[in-house]
Amino acid sequence: MSTKIKLMLKCDEANHVCDKAQHKDASLWEKIKLHVHLVYCNACRKYTINNIKLSKIIKKSRIECLDKKCKEKMKLELDRAIKETETN
Ligand SMILES: [Zn+2]
Repeated sequence: MSTKIKLMLKCDEANHVCDKAQHKDASLWEKIKLHVHLVYCNACRKYTINNIKLSKIIKKSRIECLDKKCKEKMKLELDRAIKETETN
């Protein structure tokens, strides 16, 4: 169809790049394409914010919490973060 550079990601591709970026696996070009996608795609913007938020909480909880009680607290934190994102 077209030979122009593929700049427009589909939502599932954007989400995949977002996941890769979380693990520092995404290339610069992939990140640029993700940002372009996020400019016009509200759903993926939400997904990305959620993703960053959750991995931050998980990272933090892994350092601070080792026992069962803390794991329960972590789950509550995650639920709250998800709810906050949904209501924004
Ligand atoms: Zn999208």
